[in-house]
Amino acid sequence: MESTKSANLMIIKLLIIQCLAFVCIAQDFDFFYFVQQWPGSYCDSKQSCCYPSTGKPASDFGVHGLWPNYKDGSYPSNCDPDAPFDPSKISDLRSNMQKEWPTLACPSGNGLEFWGHEWTKHGTCSESVLDQHDYFATTLSLKNQVNLLQTLENAGIHPDGGSYSLQSIKSAIEQGTGFTPFIECNVDSSGNSQLYQVYMCVDTSGSNLIACPVFPHGKCGSQIEFPTF
Ligand code: 5GP
Ligand code: 5GP
Repeated sequence: MESTKSANLMIIKLLIIQCLAFVCIAQDFDFFYFVQQWPGSYCDSKQSCCYPSTGKPASDFGVHGLWPNYKDGSYPSNCDPDAPFDPSKISDLRSNMQKEWPTLACPSGNGLEFWGHEWTKHGTCSESVLDQHDYFATTLSLKNQVNLLQTLENAGIHPDGGSYSLQSIKSAIEQGTGFTPFIECNVDSSGNSQLYQVYMCVDTSGSNLIACPVFPHGKCGSQIEFPTF
């Protein structure tokens, strides 16, 4: 009788430990979208743009963000009001951020507002894996790992204001990175569809590209413009 009781107690204890372990390991998201923007398309649209106070960015894709996402297409946001953006935690990354993650919104800023927005809205939702410093460091290292402009140029696709087939852009990126991207378009001031943002999917560690579990919605034309910048 006593031994059945203690065996039962043991089973209950084991179940509790398993449950706790599950909660500890459980991810609060399924994967990341790593999103890059073409500055020429941000600027060449209704909203227009302002160069950062540190000067005109290079003619290259810039980071928009690293966004935790669920496999069903929905996503968490603004997950931790107790983790406000703290610029002092990324002072070692600052010059790289200015280069790779420039802000183009008006009025001109030094980037802190854009980075702070991305941390608060998206970064706080992956805190179980990446603290604030690692969130930005990981994103910068993805930018380094995926050279979109080089990949497109290798395939003869240049930011020259010309029109390219959406399929040729997707294929070039697939060739270069091994994974199919999602391409988001916006519309220039004369109404042409143009290459605005490129989404790649990344595993929950933030280190490895993966095949996208789900693509965002939205449509480009079959021919899209790649504006100069
Ligand atoms: P828009 O409505 O312009 O496509 O997106 C506005 C903002 O909503 C984006 O900049 C981003 O912060 C967020 N957002 C839009 N789509 C997604 C998505 O599929 N996943 C995540 N995580 N955020 C998104
Ligand atoms: P999201 O679309 O990620 O939710 O929000 C982007 C926010 O960051 C907007 O409030 C936008 O004004 C600001 N922002 C600042 N710089 C940039 C930029 O270079 N690109 C984009 N897309 N948004 C920027």
